[in-house]
Amino acid sequence: MNEFDVMVVGGGPAGATAATACAQRGLQVALFEHARFPRHKVCGDVINPNCWPVFERLGVARKIQGLPQQTIEAACFTTMGRHTLTVPLPCPTVAIRRSLLDAALLDHARSCGVHVIEGETVHDVWADRRLVTRHGEYGARKAIIGADGRHSVVARKAGLACLRPGRHQHIAFQSHFRAPATLNHQVQLHLFRGGYCGLVRVDTERANLCIVTGPWAARFHRDCEALFAHTVWQNPHFCEWGVPPEPLEPLQSAHPLQSPANRAAEHGVFLAGDALRVMEPFTGQGIFFALRTGEMAAEAIDHPARREERYAAAVAKLYRQRGRTNDCLRHAMYRERAARVIIPLVRHAPRLAHWLADSVLGGER
Ligand SMILES: Cc1cc2nc3c(=O)[nH]c(=O)nc-3n(C[C@H](O)[C@H](O)[C@H](O)COP(=O)(O)OP(=O)(O)OC[C@H]3O[C@@H](n4cnc5c(N)ncnc54)[C@H](O)[C@@H]3O)c2cc1C
Repeated sequence: MNEFDVMVVGGGPAGATAATACAQRGLQVALFEHARFPRHKVCGDVINPNCWPVFERLGVARKIQGLPQQTIEAACFTTMGRHTLTVPLPCPTVAIRRSLLDAALLDHARSCGVHVIEGETVHDVWADRRLVTRHGEYGARKAIIGADGRHSVVARKAGLACLRPGRHQHIAFQSHFRAPATLNHQVQLHLFRGGYCGLVRVDTERANLCIVTGPWAARFHRDCEALFAHTVWQNPHFCEWGVPPEPLEPLQSAHPLQSPANRAAEHGVFLAGDALRVMEPFTGQGIFFALRTGEMAAEAIDHPARREERYAAAVAKLYRQRGRTNDCLRHAMYRERAARVIIPLVRHAPRLAHWLADSVLGGER
């Protein structure tokens, strides 16, 4: 049986960060990734400014600065009525395609000495820190980190998954579309009945478009025109942008978009990123949570005593600080009528708008 100090499952931002941070501590690390990179990922592609300190600590910031990207200076909200609200962002923010970002992070892990095994799916996690893949069994001397996303096999097999289903069973569709020429330094959030659409330019020709709506829309998976007709085209502001309903890549979907937190760690198995907790994507914090929990898991593993408890306490604090704003805003995003009241209020209270933007994008407290 192959043995490593640490085995990481999943090569997204959480897994690549955890693996790099462990390797930088001198540990022997293997990372198992189901896909072959670069791979597509359902995401709004917005990089929360809080990600940069983590990129710096990993030593990958310059590489990421060199990727094709678009700066974002403001967030613009529209309702189905006449209401619009533009909030300047308090700090520089960018959009980068996830296929590029994730490949850069995984390459960096490799260059730091992580043994990356792509195209290898983990099927089972056994007691005594053992993993099973199609090719056999692997053992971890110190820890296993489950960073395998929202449908985490590690969480389920290690008994860390919360069995209570989430209350909000929305679905997200995403792809890149031809960007309207006038879409530049804004992330746009267009509300419609029962959901919203996020639109942001990611490079010279492409815009990322996400539609978040009820589970009934699953039937439009292959029919983008019908999906637009039942969702975003209800909002006249969105129509003005003239985004053609022909995706440049096949439309992809993701769910659940929010779920109760799993247990963070037990018996040498640690969860990070979406495997630990899925938060409503609208505030664009998921990549930051993935990076930060990956980093925190690597710190905890190295600790001589009570490492699982320490990690659980640290991640609970991280999510508590930021979860409240996410919860409040989620209610407004899915209730177009509530947004019609809230948006004019916020427009006349610029300090409230600034406070909201700061609590989503401001530094770690
Ligand atoms: C519609 C939408 C829009 C979003 N927009 C934003 C945004 O703008 N900004 C932002 O910060 N966040 C956003 N998010 C959230 C963000 O995409 C996630 O929080 C982030 O991808 C979590 O990273 P992760 O590394 O935990 O998981 P993932 O990125 O999901 O990576 C998990 C990896 O594990 C691999 N894997 C899975 N199972 C196995 C297995 N059994 N064996 C081996 N490998 C496995 C997968 O192939 C995958 O590569 C959005 C999410 C959605 C749904």
